[in-house]
Amino acid sequence: EDQRLLEGDGLGAFDDQPQRKEVGVLAVVGRPNVGKSTLVNRILGRRVAVVEDTPGVTRDRVSYDAEWAGTDFKLVDTGGWEADVEGIESAIASQAQIAVQLSDAVIFLVDGQVGITATDERMIKVLRESGKPIILAVNKIDDNTAEYLTAEFWKMGMGEPFPISAMHGRGVGDLLDKAVDTLRKADRTSGFLTPGHLRRVALVGRPNVGKSSMLNQLAHEERAVVNDLAGTTRDPIDEVISIDGEDWLFIDTAGIKRRLHKLSGAEYYSSLRTQAAIERSELALVLFDASEPISDQDLKVMSQAVDAGRAIVLVFNKWDLMDEFDRQRLERLWNTEFDRVTWAQRVNLSAKTGWHTNRLVSAMRTALESWDQRVPTGKLNSFLGKIQAAHPHPVTGGKQPRILFATQASTRPPRFILFTSGFLEHGYRRFLERSLREEFGFEGTPIQISVHIRE
Ligand code: GDP
Ligand code: GDP
Repeated sequence: EDQRLLEGDGLGAFDDQPQRKEVGVLAVVGRPNVGKSTLVNRILGRRVAVVEDTPGVTRDRVSYDAEWAGTDFKLVDTGGWEADVEGIESAIASQAQIAVQLSDAVIFLVDGQVGITATDERMIKVLRESGKPIILAVNKIDDNTAEYLTAEFWKMGMGEPFPISAMHGRGVGDLLDKAVDTLRKADRTSGFLTPGHLRRVALVGRPNVGKSSMLNQLAHEERAVVNDLAGTTRDPIDEVISIDGEDWLFIDTAGIKRRLHKLSGAEYYSSLRTQAAIERSELALVLFDASEPISDQDLKVMSQAVDAGRAIVLVFNKWDLMDEFDRQRLERLWNTEFDRVTWAQRVNLSAKTGWHTNRLVSAMRTALESWDQRVPTGKLNSFLGKIQAAHPHPVTGGKQPRILFATQASTRPPRFILFTSGFLEHGYRRFLERSLREEFGFEGTPIQISVHIRE
């Protein structure tokens, strides 16, 4: 948590600025070593070394904000996904499947120096079934003399292959022109951007906490399949579930039922799916098994949701199994392990018996209202003025940093920018966050505070 210096200037620019719209989600898919990481790094404008430094280290991000020619889009990076997975063939199939579920268009990358392989052909089959637009890019065409290698790839029957050199940047501009154009025309099925009126919920938690039971309890008979993402007859992915007469879109319910997980046989993919579901959601219902000790894995899932800036509701399930001893154990934990989310609402319930599940909806609504909440600039500044008068920042090195001006730059989650005359101590920023919460609520949502020091 450092004091991020923001680029750009002009205070007014932050205020009530409409957020730039992303046109969609683009995934780069291909078998190992074709150059996916190199291409992703080039698109993001990163040094390749950042990735190559850490072989075998699984990345904890699934998608990145990218931009091409003034157009914003999300880039799904599958480059590190084959790490630590046994059974490379099924892993590759899963990778392709997850990537297409997440995206609106796919760049399928092949290696021009190697030619078409059997794995390429298997992946292409999975991609085709998805019905998503696919752009074929032939990598490692580093100069004109290698151009002829591209011809072979017409055979794949995927239209014009784009010769590129991810390493040198050759042809990447044309490829991105095509990709952005495709995104603009694509059906938005990824769920990142679907405007729809339904709020998107990710039901997350480590295995066995009761996610499937919860889904069944909530759905009763009313479960409706809405979003057959792929447009095929495969497993439903997102479902509309009506709770107390209100409809919610539950993300990746097939993942909750762990069908794909069984297919790949890798715990790793279950965690990737969790991350992917969180990124597509607005609200995360984080489930715990209250009758068992809270594990690092439980806390990790919770952190994933908080770090992604989602509204959250903490659900302590299996309450029917709790005795007095268990309850006390949990209370103690609440004051230690959960201290970074004291602002979150907590619902104790039993997915099995249905006890207290009716308390979920109001918690979900409150969290999302907080997530959407905007504090007007005038109100914010007069409040911070009062706070500073009552509790000024401690004097350090003969100086006393002051907040000169503040504005809420965005919502979902709320993000504040403070312009200050000096560095704000961590403790003081914590104090400001607490004060903002006391004054304005924000129950159930993380809030972010960036500090911009004006010299
Ligand atoms: P990934 O496993 O698909 O993510 O592939 P990487 O991006 O790690 O690249 C695999 C290897 O191919 C690395 O040694 C890269 O340096 C090399 N490579 C990637 N792009 C190009 C390219 O455009 N031309 C050449 N000659 N090599 C490349
Ligand atoms: P998932 O792996 O998170 O989807 O968990 P499941 O829904 O498959 O549940 C794991 C086990 O916990 C199953 O045996 C469920 O019957 C049981 N379970 C789930 N919710 C409850 C509950 O509220 N009370 C009790 N006693 N058992 C539950």
